[in-house]
Formats: sequence, structure tokens, C-alpha cells
Amino acid sequence: MTPDGPVPADRAGGSLTIDLGAIAANWRTLAVVAGPAECAAVVKADAYGLGVAAVAPVLAAAGCRSFFVAQLDEGIALRGLLGPAPSVFVLNGIPPGTAAEFDAHRLLPVLNSATQVVEWQRLATSRERPLAAAIQLDTGMSRFGLSPDEVHGLAQRPDGFAGIAARLVMSHLACADEPGHPANESQREAFARLRPLLPPAPASLAASFGIFLGPSYHLDMVRPGVALFGGAASHSPSLRPVVRLQGRIVQTRRIPAGAFVGYGARFVAERPSRIATVAVGYADGFLRAGGGQGAACLPGGGPPLPIVGRISMDCLGVDVTDAPEAALQDGMALDLIGPHRPLEDAAAAAGTIGYEMLTALGHRYHRRYLPDAPPGR
Ligand SMILES: *Cc1c(COP(=O)(O)O)cnc(C)c1O
Repeated sequence: MTPDGPVPADRAGGSLTIDLGAIAANWRTLAVVAGPAECAAVVKADAYGLGVAAVAPVLAAAGCRSFFVAQLDEGIALRGLLGPAPSVFVLNGIPPGTAAEFDAHRLLPVLNSATQVVEWQRLATSRERPLAAAIQLDTGMSRFGLSPDEVHGLAQRPDGFAGIAARLVMSHLACADEPGHPANESQREAFARLRPLLPPAPASLAASFGIFLGPSYHLDMVRPGVALFGGAASHSPSLRPVVRLQGRIVQTRRIPAGAFVGYGARFVAERPSRIATVAVGYADGFLRAGGGQGAACLPGGGPPLPIVGRISMDCLGVDVTDAPEAALQDGMALDLIGPHRPLEDAAAAAGTIGYEMLTALGHRYHRRYLPDAPPGR
């Protein structure tokens, strides 16, 4: 049993349904595509907003043995959820002065800089034993990782990596969602050049979109995040949608041609229209910048129903003129993300990406988790 969220269905402005079976199925699909490389799972930022307490145990049950989070406290929480067996990597590495906590919770820091390497080595010296960690290389993204100069510097010193039991050598691709981008190949080559200078360890380069670049990017481990959660469905027909987001119709009104909708009167009706006010707004992750774009639809499908006017904090307007009148009533739900309204499309219409949309959804929705195994099995 997975606990549903604290907001009761009958009074929430919207509902968020998260299909845990689809997350497990997506992990298995990616594990097959990437095999024989190990398939890890990235569950940072509360599993991309979907709830790490529900998501991580399902992934572990599906067979995932290595998990990535961004921050120390996310790692401590995940260790508590999953027990001692899985590897838990912390992508942002060691904040100054916290190395002992990583060791206490058996977390694997991703060492991103010479400073973080030294911090981990100091602890290893005081504990008089090598300490396990991942080492990240900057192969061009200029975000995290040892620079080529730092790698060469450390490699020339006999004690450069002393005390570090390297469990993984990794880097991250900047442009993996653009298969033709030359940065992909140049990062892959930079990684291959630097890797022999590091202590021998399994290697990892690909996140979700890197997996679809092909086997030369899989190396020993892949690290998908968003593809597990339905954000890469357009890249592979075998990945399943995970999230359904529904907003409740508070009221519906008829307006004549020339009437406007919402703050700033940014939408003016060109024809006599029916407008539904839906109780989801920018406080629920429907970013104001996306106002006047995108669409909702009836739960069973049908024509796209345009989102019109500016998005308010607690509501948005939907032009439901083209929906059959009998299909609509106050209190019913419209799909904002769902089987007929893919996450990637909803995000693109709002001028953003699935990652941002998921992590922005917030905590006012009624949350429902569909269990991994069908009931009765
Ligand atoms: C977030 C992140 C991932 C997962 O990325 P997706 O595109 O969501 O699959 C993998 N590796 C690193 C270093 C990350 O920061």
C-alpha cells in the first residue's frame, strides 16, 4: 500500500495521479535498452516532484540497485527509505564540513572538485581506511566535475587519489536531447581521454536522453531520471506515461463575442463562447508565463480545449465552446496532463520542459498513487 497525499479529493482544486506501475515498467524498459550496462535511477528533487517515498521503493523492487539524488539530506532520507543495500550517490558532492555525515549514512559523494577530493581524503585519513565515492569529470558542460587540468594535476601526484575507493567515474552530457549536436561526441571523446588518468572504476555518461544516443554512450551504467517519469515518451513508444493531472471546473459561463477573460483582458472572445474556470493556477505549477497557450481536454479525449487568458494564482480559464454541452458540469475534472495530453506537449505549450513542469506541481493537489502490481496479483 502506498499512502495517498494529505489533500482530500473532494475539496482539492486538482488531482495528480501517479502510476507507479508505469514507473517500474519504464525502468525495466530502459534497463533492457541499456543492457548490459547497469540501469540506475535518479530520484532527486523528491523524485522530480512525484514523491520519493512512493517512487524509490517501487524502483528498488523492480531491481534498481543504484540511486542518485542531488543533496545530502535527500540522500539521508533515501537511505532511510531503502535500507542498507542500494548504492546512494549524491550528485552535488560534499558541502564543506559534512563529509562525516556521508560516511555515517553510507552515502557516496560525487566528488566534483579538487576541494571535494581533499575533503574526502581528510576523512579517509582520520578513519584510517579508504572511503567509497564517485569522481565526476567536466567534459565540457562547465557545471560539475574536475577540469582536465585538475585531473592531470592529481594524476601526476602519487597520492592524488589516495584514500578514495572509486566506485564510479562519471560525466554528464549537455545536449543529449539533440542527437546531432557535436557536443555529444566531443564530450564522449573527452571522457575517454581522461578516464585512464583516474583510478579504475565503472564509468557512466548517459542520463535519459543519452541512453537513446546508442550503445557507445552506455558504458557501465546509465542514470535516467525524467524518462522514468514519463518525460521522454516521444523518444520511445515503449515508455509509458506516468502522470495524469486533472483540474476541477469551478464554474462555466457563456460570454458574447468581444468579452474578455482574466487579468489584463488578454483574451478577447472572437465568437460567443463558453468559458470554464478551472481550479489550478500558477501556485500549482501552471506557470504564469505559459498563459494563453496550451489546452485541456475532456477525460475521455475529444478536441483540445484552449487555455485562454492569463493564468491566475488559483485558477485558469478554458474555452470549452467546442466540447459537447452535455459532457460538462461544474465540479467535474478536465485533463491538463493525461492520456490525450502528453506531459511533453503540455510543457512545450507552456514554454517549458517536462522536468520543470513536474517539479513545479506543488502540494495542493489530491495525490493518488496507482500501485505497481494490479490488485489481486
Ligand atoms: C539530473 C541528472 C540526471 C538525470 O537526468 P535526466 O535527464 O532526468 O535523465 C543524471 N545525471 C546527472 C548528473 C543529473 O544531474
